Amino acid sequence: MTEKAMSDMNDNTLRKIKKVASILRREKPSAKGLIDFYEKIFFLQYEIEPSIEKDFSFLTSKKSFPLIKRKDFAVDLSLSEDLFKKICDACSGNPMNPDPSAKAIKNSLGAGDLSFESMVNDYLANESPTPQYSNPGNGFNPELFDFILYNALKPSIVKSSHLISEYCSKTTSLTNARCPVCNGAPALSIASGKKYSRSLVCSFCWHEYKIKKSECPFCKNNDPQTLGHISLEAEKGIRADYCNSCKKYIKTINLKEYRKDFYLPLEMIVSIPFDMKMNEEGFKPE
Ligand SMILES: [Zn+2]
Ligand SMILES: [Zn+2]
Repeated sequence: MTEKAMSDMNDNTLRKIKKVASILRREKPSAKGLIDFYEKIFFLQYEIEPSIEKDFSFLTSKKSFPLIKRKDFAVDLSLSEDLFKKICDACSGNPMNPDPSAKAIKNSLGAGDLSFESMVNDYLANESPTPQYSNPGNGFNPELFDFILYNALKPSIVKSSHLISEYCSKTTSLTNARCPVCNGAPALSIASGKKYSRSLVCSFCWHEYKIKKSECPFCKNNDPQTLGHISLEAEKGIRADYCNSCKKYIKTINLKEYRKDFYLPLEMIVSIPFDMKMNEEGFKPE
Protein backbone atom coordinates (compact mmCIF):
# COMPACT_ATOMS: atom_id res chain seq x y z
CA MET A 1 0.00 0.00 0.00
CA THR A 2 1.34 3.45 -0.93
CA GLU A 3 1.82 6.29 1.59
CA LYS A 4 -0.99 8.21 -0.12
CA ALA A 5 -3.39 5.25 0.11
CA MET A 6 -2.44 4.80 3.77
CA SER A 7 -3.07 8.46 4.52
CA ASP A 8 -6.48 8.39 2.77
CA MET A 9 -7.29 5.31 4.79
CA ASN A 10 -6.47 7.20 8.00
CA ASP A 11 -8.79 10.07 7.04
CA ASN A 12 -11.57 7.61 6.30
CA THR A 13 -10.99 5.86 9.59
CA LEU A 14 -11.16 9.15 11.52
CA ARG A 15 -14.51 9.95 9.90
CA LYS A 16 -15.72 6.44 10.61
CA ILE A 17 -14.70 6.56 14.30
CA LYS A 18 -16.54 9.85 14.76
CA LYS A 19 -19.70 8.58 13.04
CA VAL A 20 -19.77 5.24 14.84
CA ALA A 21 -19.14 6.86 18.24
CA SER A 22 -22.08 9.20 17.74
CA ILE A 23 -24.36 6.31 16.66
CA LEU A 24 -23.28 4.31 19.70
CA ARG A 25 -23.91 7.21 22.08
CA ARG A 26 -27.51 7.26 20.83
CA GLU A 27 -27.88 3.47 20.90
CA LYS A 28 -26.23 2.96 24.27
CA PRO A 29 -26.60 6.13 26.34
CA SER A 30 -25.48 4.34 29.52
CA ALA A 31 -22.07 3.64 27.89
CA LYS A 32 -21.49 7.28 26.89
CA GLY A 33 -18.45 7.77 29.17
CA LEU A 34 -16.79 4.62 27.84
CA ILE A 35 -17.51 5.55 24.22
CA ASP A 36 -16.19 9.12 24.72
CA PHE A 37 -12.96 7.79 26.23
CA TYR A 38 -12.26 5.24 23.49
CA GLU A 39 -13.25 7.65 20.73
CA LYS A 40 -10.53 9.95 22.05
CA ILE A 41 -7.89 7.18 22.17
CA PHE A 42 -8.74 5.87 18.67
CA PHE A 43 -8.78 9.40 17.29
CA LEU A 44 -5.29 10.08 18.65
CA GLN A 45 -4.08 6.92 16.88
CA TYR A 46 -5.26 7.98 13.44
CA GLU A 47 -4.22 11.62 13.63
CA ILE A 48 -0.66 10.45 13.16
CA GLU A 49 1.04 8.62 10.34
CA PRO A 50 3.88 6.36 11.49
CA SER A 51 6.86 6.04 9.22
CA ILE A 52 7.76 2.37 8.74
CA GLU A 53 11.02 1.93 6.88
CA LYS A 54 11.60 -1.77 7.52
CA ASP A 55 11.91 -4.05 4.51
CA PHE A 56 9.90 -7.23 5.11
CA SER A 57 10.91 -8.95 1.88
CA PHE A 58 12.87 -11.51 3.94
CA LEU A 59 9.41 -13.05 4.53
CA THR A 60 9.10 -14.13 0.88
CA SER A 61 10.62 -17.51 1.68
CA LYS A 62 8.75 -17.97 4.96
CA LYS A 63 6.52 -21.03 4.62
CA SER A 64 4.97 -21.33 8.06
CA PHE A 65 2.88 -19.20 10.38
CA PRO A 66 3.20 -16.95 12.27
CA LEU A 67 5.23 -14.88 9.85
CA ILE A 68 6.96 -12.87 12.54
CA LYS A 69 7.61 -12.63 16.25
CA ARG A 70 6.28 -9.52 17.95
CA LYS A 71 9.78 -8.14 18.35
CA ASP A 72 10.01 -8.01 14.52
CA PHE A 73 7.26 -5.39 14.21
CA ALA A 74 8.68 -2.07 13.06
CA VAL A 75 7.92 0.86 15.36
CA ASP A 76 8.11 4.59 14.72
CA LEU A 77 9.63 5.40 18.10
CA SER A 78 9.38 9.18 18.26
CA LEU A 79 5.78 9.19 17.08
CA SER A 80 4.86 6.40 19.49
CA GLU A 81 6.51 8.18 22.41
CA ASP A 82 4.52 11.31 21.65
CA LEU A 83 1.32 9.27 21.45
CA PHE A 84 2.22 7.46 24.68
CA LYS A 85 2.30 10.80 26.53
CA LYS A 86 -1.02 11.89 25.00
CA ILE A 87 -2.67 8.61 26.05
CA CYS A 88 -1.25 9.08 29.59
CA ASP A 89 -2.97 12.49 29.64
CA ALA A 90 -6.24 10.99 28.33
CA CYS A 91 -6.15 8.32 31.07
CA SER A 92 -5.30 10.67 33.94
CA GLY A 93 -7.99 13.10 32.72
CA ASN A 94 -10.62 10.41 32.05
CA PRO A 95 -13.69 11.76 33.91
CA MET A 96 -15.10 8.22 34.26
CA ASN A 97 -12.06 6.75 35.91
CA PRO A 98 -9.15 9.18 36.33
CA ASP A 99 -6.01 7.24 37.07
CA PRO A 100 -3.21 9.17 38.83
CA SER A 101 -0.68 6.44 37.98
CA ALA A 102 -0.95 7.48 34.30
CA LYS A 103 0.56 10.81 35.33
CA ALA A 104 3.30 9.01 37.28
CA ILE A 105 4.15 6.94 34.19
CA LYS A 106 4.37 10.03 32.02
CA ASN A 107 6.49 11.88 34.60
CA SER A 108 8.96 8.97 34.87
CA LEU A 109 9.43 9.11 31.14
CA GLY A 110 9.87 12.88 31.17
CA ALA A 111 12.40 12.69 34.02
CA GLY A 112 14.47 10.15 32.13
CA ASP A 113 13.76 7.36 34.68
CA LEU A 114 12.38 5.28 31.82
CA SER A 115 13.81 4.89 28.34
CA PHE A 116 10.96 4.62 25.86
CA GLU A 117 13.03 2.60 23.43
CA SER A 118 14.05 -0.07 25.95
CA MET A 119 10.51 -0.16 27.30
CA VAL A 120 9.20 -0.88 23.78
CA ASN A 121 11.87 -3.47 23.07
CA ASP A 122 11.15 -5.29 26.33
CA TYR A 123 7.41 -5.14 25.75
CA LEU A 124 7.63 -6.63 22.26
CA ALA A 125 10.23 -9.22 23.23
CA ASN A 126 8.38 -10.39 26.35
CA GLU A 127 4.88 -9.84 25.02
CA SER A 128 3.84 -8.24 28.31
CA PRO A 129 4.98 -5.31 30.44
CA THR A 130 8.19 -6.17 32.20
CA PRO A 131 8.14 -6.22 36.01
CA GLN A 132 10.64 -3.41 36.48
CA TYR A 133 8.29 -1.01 34.73
CA SER A 134 5.00 -2.34 35.92
CA ASN A 135 5.73 -3.08 39.59
CA PRO A 136 2.78 -1.64 41.55
CA GLY A 137 5.36 -0.55 44.18
CA ASN A 138 6.56 2.06 41.69
CA GLY A 139 3.10 3.64 41.67
CA PHE A 140 2.36 1.90 38.37
CA ASN A 141 -0.84 0.10 37.57
CA PRO A 142 0.35 -2.81 35.35
CA GLU A 143 -2.91 -3.13 33.42
CA LEU A 144 -3.01 0.57 32.71
CA PHE A 145 0.64 0.54 31.68
CA ASP A 146 -0.03 -2.31 29.27
CA PHE A 147 -3.07 -0.46 27.86
CA ILE A 148 -1.15 2.80 27.33
CA LEU A 149 1.92 1.19 25.79
CA TYR A 150 -0.02 -1.10 23.45
CA ASN A 151 -2.22 1.74 22.25
CA ALA A 152 0.80 3.99 21.69
CA LEU A 153 2.38 1.28 19.52
CA LYS A 154 -0.80 0.24 17.75
CA PRO A 155 -0.51 2.60 14.73
CA SER A 156 2.97 1.21 14.00
CA ILE A 157 1.88 -2.37 14.65
CA VAL A 158 -1.16 -2.09 12.36
CA LYS A 159 0.85 -0.43 9.60
CA SER A 160 3.59 -3.08 9.86
CA SER A 161 0.92 -5.77 9.77
CA HIS A 162 -0.49 -4.36 6.51
CA LEU A 163 2.95 -4.62 4.96
CA ILE A 164 3.65 -8.07 6.40
CA SER A 165 0.27 -9.54 5.45
CA GLU A 166 1.26 -9.31 1.79
CA TYR A 167 3.51 -12.28 2.52
CA CYS A 168 0.71 -14.48 3.88
CA SER A 169 0.98 -17.31 1.39
CA LYS A 170 -2.32 -18.48 0.01
CA THR A 171 -1.11 -22.04 -0.08
CA THR A 172 -0.30 -22.35 3.62
CA SER A 173 -3.34 -23.19 5.68
CA LEU A 174 -3.86 -22.20 9.28
CA THR A 175 -3.33 -24.84 11.92
CA ASN A 176 -5.03 -22.94 14.73
CA ALA A 177 -7.08 -19.84 15.45
CA ARG A 178 -4.04 -17.63 16.00
CA CYS A 179 -3.10 -14.75 13.71
CA PRO A 180 -0.88 -15.84 10.79
CA VAL A 181 1.05 -12.56 11.00
CA CYS A 182 1.88 -12.35 14.71
CA ASN A 183 0.26 -15.30 16.53
CA GLY A 184 -2.10 -12.98 18.41
CA ALA A 185 -5.41 -14.26 19.79
CA PRO A 186 -8.52 -13.33 17.79
CA ALA A 187 -10.57 -10.37 19.04
CA LEU A 188 -13.68 -10.96 16.96
CA SER A 189 -15.02 -13.07 14.15
CA ILE A 190 -16.78 -11.73 11.04
CA ALA A 191 -19.43 -13.55 9.03
CA SER A 192 -19.98 -12.11 5.57
CA GLY A 193 -21.27 -12.81 2.09
CA LYS A 194 -24.18 -14.92 0.89
CA LYS A 195 -22.57 -18.12 2.09
CA TYR A 196 -21.45 -16.65 5.42
CA SER A 197 -17.74 -17.09 4.96
CA ARG A 198 -15.95 -16.46 8.21
CA SER A 199 -12.80 -14.69 9.26
CA LEU A 200 -11.08 -13.80 12.50
CA VAL A 201 -9.54 -10.45 13.42
CA CYS A 202 -6.31 -10.39 15.43
CA SER A 203 -6.51 -8.55 18.76
CA PHE A 204 -2.87 -7.40 18.47
CA CYS A 205 -2.18 -6.38 14.85
CA TRP A 206 -5.84 -6.35 13.59
CA HIS A 207 -5.05 -8.52 10.57
CA GLU A 208 -8.16 -10.31 9.25
CA TYR A 209 -7.83 -13.95 8.16
CA LYS A 210 -10.20 -16.58 6.81
CA ILE A 211 -11.26 -19.66 8.75
CA LYS A 212 -13.59 -22.59 8.07
CA LYS A 213 -17.15 -21.64 8.88
CA SER A 214 -18.55 -24.86 10.29
CA GLU A 215 -16.01 -25.76 12.94
CA CYS A 216 -14.72 -24.36 16.22
CA PRO A 217 -11.62 -22.33 15.28
CA PHE A 218 -9.95 -23.22 18.58
CA CYS A 219 -10.23 -27.02 18.78
CA LYS A 220 -11.50 -27.86 15.23
CA ASN A 221 -14.57 -29.59 16.67
CA ASN A 222 -17.20 -29.78 13.91
CA ASP A 223 -19.97 -31.66 15.70
CA PRO A 224 -23.06 -29.44 15.37
CA GLN A 225 -24.45 -30.92 18.62
CA THR A 226 -21.71 -29.24 20.63
CA LEU A 227 -21.45 -25.95 18.72
CA GLY A 228 -23.90 -23.13 19.28
CA HIS A 229 -24.39 -19.43 19.69
CA ILE A 230 -26.00 -16.96 22.05
CA SER A 231 -27.73 -13.76 20.93
CA LEU A 232 -28.81 -10.87 23.16
CA GLU A 233 -32.08 -9.08 22.50
CA ALA A 234 -30.60 -5.58 22.48
CA GLU A 235 -27.66 -6.51 20.24
CA LYS A 236 -28.55 -6.89 16.57
CA GLY A 237 -26.22 -8.63 14.10
CA ILE A 238 -23.76 -9.83 16.72
CA ARG A 239 -23.69 -13.12 18.58
CA ALA A 240 -21.30 -15.20 20.66
CA ASP A 241 -20.32 -18.51 19.03
CA TYR A 242 -19.34 -21.16 21.56
CA CYS A 243 -17.96 -24.67 21.61
CA ASN A 244 -18.96 -27.09 24.34
CA SER A 245 -15.95 -29.25 23.61
CA CYS A 246 -13.21 -26.71 24.46
CA LYS A 247 -15.48 -24.24 26.32
CA LYS A 248 -14.24 -21.28 24.29
CA TYR A 249 -16.27 -18.56 22.60
CA ILE A 250 -15.82 -15.73 20.15
CA LYS A 251 -18.05 -12.78 19.39
CA THR A 252 -19.18 -12.81 15.75
CA ILE A 253 -20.42 -9.85 13.76
CA ASN A 254 -22.75 -10.84 10.94
CA LEU A 255 -22.25 -8.11 8.34
CA LYS A 256 -25.60 -8.83 6.68
CA GLU A 257 -27.47 -7.85 9.83
CA TYR A 258 -25.09 -5.45 11.56
CA ARG A 259 -25.30 -1.68 11.20
CA LYS A 260 -23.60 -0.41 8.03
CA ASP A 261 -21.10 1.83 9.84
CA PHE A 262 -18.87 0.08 12.34
CA TYR A 263 -15.37 0.33 13.73
CA LEU A 264 -14.16 -3.01 15.05
CA PRO A 265 -12.06 -1.82 18.04
CA LEU A 266 -15.09 0.16 19.24
CA GLU A 267 -17.52 -2.73 18.58
CA MET A 268 -15.19 -4.91 20.64
CA ILE A 269 -15.59 -2.55 23.63
CA VAL A 270 -19.35 -1.97 23.44
CA SER A 271 -20.11 -5.69 23.08
CA ILE A 272 -18.83 -6.37 26.61
CA PRO A 273 -22.33 -7.62 27.69
CA PHE A 274 -21.59 -10.76 25.62
CA ASP A 275 -18.33 -11.34 27.46
CA MET A 276 -20.09 -11.03 30.81
CA LYS A 277 -22.82 -13.44 29.71
CA MET A 278 -20.34 -16.00 28.32
CA ASN A 279 -18.16 -15.84 31.43
CA GLU A 280 -21.27 -16.51 33.54
CA GLU A 281 -22.00 -19.53 31.35
CA GLY A 282 -18.50 -20.91 31.91
CA PHE A 283 -16.94 -20.05 28.54
CA LYS A 284 -13.59 -18.30 28.02
CA PRO A 285 -12.13 -16.30 25.13
CA GLU A 286 -9.00 -17.66 23.42
ZN1 LIG B 1 -1.78 -10.40 14.46
ZN1 LIG C 1 -13.72 -25.85 20.48
